[in-house]
Order: sequence, then structure tokens, then C-alpha cells
Amino acid sequence: MDEINELIKWWSQNYGVAALYDTAGEKITVGVAGKCRFCGKDNSETTFRNKAHAISDSLGNRKIISLDECDECNGLFGRTIEDHLGRYMAAPRAISQIIGKRGVPSYKTKQKKSRLSTTEGCLSIENHEDDSFVEIDENNKTVTYTMTRQSYSPISVYKAFVKMAISIAPQSLLPYLNEANRWVRSQNSNHISFPPFIFEGFIPGLTPFQNNIWTTLLVRKTNTPSPGVVFVLQVSNYLFQIPIPSPIIDADLGVESISMQMFPTPFDLSNPCGAVKRWPKKMEGHDLIQNDEFKITQKCIEMTPVDISNKKIQKNAEDK
Ligand SMILES: [Zn+2]
Repeated sequence: MDEINELIKWWSQNYGVAALYDTAGEKITVGVAGKCRFCGKDNSETTFRNKAHAISDSLGNRKIISLDECDECNGLFGRTIEDHLGRYMAAPRAISQIIGKRGVPSYKTKQKKSRLSTTEGCLSIENHEDDSFVEIDENNKTVTYTMTRQSYSPISVYKAFVKMAISIAPQSLLPYLNEANRWVRSQNSNHISFPPFIFEGFIPGLTPFQNNIWTTLLVRKTNTPSPGVVFVLQVSNYLFQIPIPSPIIDADLGVESISMQMFPTPFDLSNPCGAVKRWPKKMEGHDLIQNDEFKITQKCIEMTPVDISNKKIQKNAEDK
């Protein structure tokens, strides 16, 4: 508890809030229509017909909409970095039932025997002993899932997060993100400020944010040796804390040894479904990462065994 209160104090002393959005209420638009914040082209040079999501719609965002992302940039992001974000998040979305463009993805193990899918809002899991991805601990009433992500390019996933940070940045911050903007749209995989890394986290429980998205962009206001701009994104059970490269703001840092404090959430103070877990992750390189496993544990309030050898029960369950 004391540690969390210290963190709250540290963030409010060292960082200011540049942007803050959530999807709990009405639709929100970001940016000024008529000129693309990414390529700088205006109405006379490009078009703005397609709906552009400031936070990727593959993460379930329907409400935070960009007015200043042109169709060319929207198409480029969709074909490149957002495709990798979609692959990175497919398995986590399956288990947390996050609805994207094409509904909730299903999940299959490599052997394709065991699987997990959502039918009419209910999570249905088929787990075979010889191809198991689910471990049940009846004494501690926990269920642990070990899932494998689809292959992804780490630098592209990281760029997709940087792109979202640029999308929600206020106009006054954009000049400080120019280099990051050019880098996100390029094929360049070398870093421009510090080697890319993220903090990722998991909040146990059923839809801790009621499947709302909460996001903020923070800018450093002291000379503490921490990234100049930090993007925080909370989606369903998942937390992401991403340092955003800004060579102008980061010029005063020894960027090779950059560090970042953990951004606290209300769930760190108390969560009946288990403690929030976080881990740092390097996001360097273009090469596809195959077989990236992640493990999550949910604590159950009740566990009731059901005899599925009884066909009648199985059939009734299917009928519902
Ligand atoms: Zn554009």
C-alpha cells in the first residue's frame, strides 16, 4: 500500500497529464479536421473519408476517433504496424473477450486440439490432457492459462503503441513527437531515442474496466532520469505503459540506461481476483517472434465440477 502511495506521489511530482481519454461515455473526437497530423497533407492533397481510430479498433475502441488521420496514413498503419498489434493481441483478446472489428477472436493451441472461443458472450474452453493449456488448482481456486501469441514483429507492435500516443497528443506536444512520427511511418527499425521496451501487465478478474479503455499521455516536468513522454493504456485485463521516444525531450537523459517507474492503478490498492502483475518487455527488431508464450492466472470465487460425460448436460449447455 505504502509503495503504491509513493508511486502516486512520484508520478504527480514528476509528470503532467497532456491527454486523458476513456470510452465509458459518449464518442470523443481528437484533433482538428482538414490536415493530417501524421503526413501533414491537407484536404487538397489527401482524403479523410475513412473512420480513423485514435486507439486501435482491434483493442475494442469504437469511441475515440481521430479527425486528423488521412486515408493514406490510415491505410499504411493498417497494413503495417496495426496488423502486428492485432496478431500480438489476438490470444489476450480471446481470453478477455475483447470485441474487435470482427468480433472476439477464438484461440487454438499449436496442436489445434485444445481451444477457447466465445459463443453468445460465454467463454467456452476445450482442454485436452495431451494438449493442455489450462491448469486448475482446486486448493487455491486458481485457473492458469498458458497461451501462445501469433507471430509478430516486436518493433511494429511498439510502433503501433507510439502511433496511438501521437494520435491522442495535444497539438502543443506534436512538435516534440515529429521524429517519432516520421519513424513510425518508416521501415526503419533502429531506435531513435532509447531501445524500445514496454511494461505490460495483467489485472486478474472478469472485465476489470467493464471492457472500457482508459488512456493517458504524460510528459515529464522535472529532470528525473525517466522518459520524457509516457503513454499508458488500460484495456480490459491488460495494462500497457510505453515510453515514447522524443529525442528533443530525452536529450538530457543517458538514454542507454533509461528506466521507468511503474504507473499505479486502483487495482494495485485492492483486487479481490488477485494481485496485478507487471513485466518489462524488450520490443526490438523486425524479425518475427514465434511461439511467444504468456501465462495468466485468474482466481475463482467458486469452482463447481460438472460431469461432461453426461451427454444430456453437454447438450443442454450447447442449447443455451
Ligand atoms: Zn496522412
